[in-house]
Amino acid sequence: MNTDANLKSKLGLNVFKYDKTPHIVIKEGCAKDERLKKALLVCPAGLYSENSDGEVELTIDGCLECGTCLIACGPEVLEWNYPSGGAGVQYRFG
Ligand code: SF4
Repeated sequence: MNTDANLKSKLGLNVFKYDKTPHIVIKEGCAKDERLKKALLVCPAGLYSENSDGEVELTIDGCLECGTCLIACGPEVLEWNYPSGGAGVQYRFG
């Protein structure tokens, strides 16, 4: 059984509505911070990636609003807020 494909297909059932501004932002100058690299390991939706320059990038589409990245990395490197009303994730039995 391919659990990665299974997880992605389940997460794909959720609906994500964009907010006016991203509800999570990597703080300026922190893209290469070692604390931020923990997000690569802990985000259950796999939304963090590392580019060829060693900078961590975030694709906000599909965020589960679980807060794991904030707990793992800390508020020193991430600006984290819930999306405004009506925006963000809508769970669909994923
Ligand atoms: S809040 Fe959860 S799903 Fe969203 S980016 Fe952080 S760890 Fe990933």
